[in-house]
Amino acid sequence: MAPVTAYIGLGANVGDREAHIRSALAGLDATAGIRVMRVSTLRETEPVGGPPQGDFLNGVAALETTLPAEALRAVCRELERAAGRDLDAPRNHPRPLDLDILLYGEQRIDVRDLQVPHPRMFDRAFVLDPLAELGVEVGSLTRPERPRVISDPVLFAASQSEWLRGGCVTGLVPTMGALHEGHASLMRAAREECDRVAATVFVNPKQFGEGEDFAAYPRDLERDLEVFRREGVDVVFAPEPAAMYPDGFCTELSVGAEAADMEGASRPGHFGGVVTVVAKLIALARPDIAYFGRKDAQQVAVLRRMVADLGFAVEVRECPIVRDADGLALSSRNAYLSDSERRTACVLYRGLRAACDLHAAGERDAGVLLRASRVPIEAEPGVDLEYLELRREGDLRPLPAGPVLAGRLLVAARVGPARLIDNMSLGDP
Ligand code: AMP
Repeated sequence: MAPVTAYIGLGANVGDREAHIRSALAGLDATAGIRVMRVSTLRETEPVGGPPQGDFLNGVAALETTLPAEALRAVCRELERAAGRDLDAPRNHPRPLDLDILLYGEQRIDVRDLQVPHPRMFDRAFVLDPLAELGVEVGSLTRPERPRVISDPVLFAASQSEWLRGGCVTGLVPTMGALHEGHASLMRAAREECDRVAATVFVNPKQFGEGEDFAAYPRDLERDLEVFRREGVDVVFAPEPAAMYPDGFCTELSVGAEAADMEGASRPGHFGGVVTVVAKLIALARPDIAYFGRKDAQQVAVLRRMVADLGFAVEVRECPIVRDADGLALSSRNAYLSDSERRTACVLYRGLRAACDLHAAGERDAGVLLRASRVPIEAEPGVDLEYLELRREGDLRPLPAGPVLAGRLLVAARVGPARLIDNMSLGDP
């Protein structure tokens, strides 16, 4: 292989910092296929993030190497270990040695544990200044775009393939945009568990019925991108309907029992549209884990069934409902509510809570529990109750007769221009 010029970030803030760095440079130079060409001056730097800790000594080394980037990284890892670094310690903890591949020729690399150019170097003077000292034109380096925004399904699938080949664990967060903290909580859960996070923004026409709010649904991709960026999402797939459903598209999924009642009864065709689009998103993204909110509990039940029935190799992760301080479940559709309608809508939460409190106090009669929810909701002017159900956890099938030991209450109601849904487990605190 022809030699490649690579730049390695050097850092240490534990023990004899300079000695750690000098012996790592000697170790690199002694490795077959690596020659250390130049080393910048080392500088004192304050730590970024992590627990309170001492200042770093930082610099950059220019290497010539015939090793592939992954092999170079393995050498760096080994030298870090030899310096006494605990490689399992969380990021930004004190460390006797930090060796990061900043640049590897002109290549862009995006595999598990290795992103080149190093994604955080562009914000760090303690990397950019020494790079400039070594003659790198830092102004002409282009920061890898994060998140990448892709609208073409083929390109989205190709970008996912790259990560799969690179051994990344990938998460998928499907949304319709108009993002709020509920969506952000899904992204955070994905960020915790996955090497790469893909999110989608698609207001899916197939899941809206006649006379529903497809046209009015709030759309603001620029604002959404700020949330995706803040939550560290790697790629955002935001297709137009014509890209998802091009001329001639004629394959649709249909759904069974989980989808027949509640939302399925109120919104005919809704779940068929949901499973069709989510199946397509899963097929394009091939995620290890897909994240959904319990706010749409029946949707999660339907999607779990679809994933099991069709044999998709994806884990469905259900994340807790995020509520405002007054209890109202966050929803993009809350944007339709006036201030007074918003206050009115809180009765859904209070109604669900009333039944859960009664259950916690020992009540086991389904009729009594349902009444405890229904009475305040029906008594609230401006609320038009569509359904209130007490169902088995998980698949949301009807409860068996007899005392209610566990279950989930689900509600749908119209408040002014908005149709709202919410749910709560009898066991929720
Ligand atoms: P949507 O954009 O409304 O299709 O929602 C996208 C995902 O976010 C779905 O999995 C929803 O269940 C989830 N989600 C919506 N609202 C909330 C919330 N308040 N708490 C948790 N997840 C939510």
